[in-house]
Amino acid sequence: MIDSARLHLAEFVPGSVWLVGAGPGDPGLLSVLALHALDHADSVVYDALVDPRIIELARPGAALEFAGKRGGRPSPRQPDISARLIRLAQEGGRVLRLKGGDPCVFGRGGEEALALAAAHIPFRIVPGITAGIGGLAYAGIPVTHRDIASAVTFVTGHGRDGTMPEGVDWAAIAHGSPVIVLYMALNHLGHIAERLIAAGRSPDEPVAIVSKATTPAQRVVVSTLADAAACAEAARIEAPTIIAIGEVVRLRAALDWFGCKAGETA
Ligand code: SAH
Repeated sequence: MIDSARLHLAEFVPGSVWLVGAGPGDPGLLSVLALHALDHADSVVYDALVDPRIIELARPGAALEFAGKRGGRPSPRQPDISARLIRLAQEGGRVLRLKGGDPCVFGRGGEEALALAAAHIPFRIVPGITAGIGGLAYAGIPVTHRDIASAVTFVTGHGRDGTMPEGVDWAAIAHGSPVIVLYMALNHLGHIAERLIAAGRSPDEPVAIVSKATTPAQRVVVSTLADAAACAEAARIEAPTIIAIGEVVRLRAALDWFGCKAGETA
């Protein structure tokens, strides 16, 4: 149990919802506030990407509710999840909405916060370490470097209906962002690479695909923009994967502190 007074932590007030980022997997990457929320929550509504070791940290007696995709079945609808959070708060519980990474980075945290605000439910957002920063750090890839990359773009490779996302200006990203970090992009990696190359990125630019980042099952496949999709398939790399495109990927050769895993092609 965390000493919340010594750390000046906010009180988890009954009837409120905390939207909390659990980080990419390693429980050591939880924030102190996230741990405090786990200590005090009456119910924990969690997503598929939250590491099981983190769910186990919930206060004994807390009600655990899964709100993600299971066994190929579709995820619960977003309005249903928001309605559930509102209901639990209205019943007087301390409601912990736990999400992988950061709740507001491709995590629908903003949508849920808007629903809570509209229902006049007090809420707090507790940021988490997003996979696109923390996951890459565990692969020995800093997302920026003063000499190599002074801008980075986080982009989703997955549209609402599973197709390529609409509204992403791949050419602008290709021109303006030396480092590109792709979330949910394994299925469309080939198409995305084609667009970036068509817009002028070098086919030889290094790409790292990091699977299950920060967990004991972390795997990293390093290839080039032209070959990345084929390499991912050949290596049978599994989701979730975070993908980095850019010269910073080369730093991994010197910075892979997490250790080489079997099956790696770096
Ligand atoms: N809110 C999360 C992202 C949710 S979208 C965050 O901030 O990290 C889901 C995508 O996140 C996955 O498809 C994958 O691209 C990425 N992701 C999340 N956790 C990951 C992990 N441990 N390893 C690799 N990718 C991860």
